[in-house]
Amino acid sequence: MRISLQLVVQGEGGVPATVNEIAQFQRDGLDVGSLGLHLEEAKSLLGRLQRTMVAAQVAEAVARTGMCPTCGAQLACKGHHHLVFRSAFGRLSIDSPRLYPCRRCQGDAATFSPIANCLPERVSPELQYLEVKFAALMSYGLTVNVLQEVLPLDHVLAASSIRRQVSTLGRRLEAAQFTDARRQAEVAASLGSPHIPEPSPIRAVGIDGGFLRSEPATDAARTAGLK
Ligand SMILES: [Zn+2]
Repeated sequence: MRISLQLVVQGEGGVPATVNEIAQFQRDGLDVGSLGLHLEEAKSLLGRLQRTMVAAQVAEAVARTGMCPTCGAQLACKGHHHLVFRSAFGRLSIDSPRLYPCRRCQGDAATFSPIANCLPERVSPELQYLEVKFAALMSYGLTVNVLQEVLPLDHVLAASSIRRQVSTLGRRLEAAQFTDARRQAEVAASLGSPHIPEPSPIRAVGIDGGFLRSEPATDAARTAGLK
């Protein structure tokens, strides 16, 4: 038996739907080894589904932003480059055109890249979440192994990139907490509160890995009854 999966993309405004076949599976007989999806098939399916969805979304965004919002004229293209975007379902290479603004409506304004403007960060929030979540539970090396085992990342994930991700998110969280604390202090001051609590002096430090060696107790310690 052959099983095919198709993705149907239905655009807005009467644009005809496009049908993309994203996977085919062959199954003969029924046993525990052939029942349902295999892990490698699921990873491949997710990767192809992600690439097809992203291509459709980017094409729609390019068509929408490639026209002057005031007069509707088609904007001239200066050139193309590719953005690399890392998602939980693969590393994506996205075509990003650079456009001239409408001369009639915007004069000599600088060229712009609408896709690059839509994607200021090049790593999906979900992949950042997974990397940091597992890095908090195990070493960076094991985090790499676990994520590559279950996700179609399509690229070599290095422990050093996990470390950088954790460091970057840690700085952002600290900055956000500092901003919240300052905002709370400003609100308290505006309400005439006589007491503004000081930030906690406790700091948490994460350690990727380490060894503890148990030293034998010295004679003096045994004599003193210490362990
Ligand atoms: Zn215009």
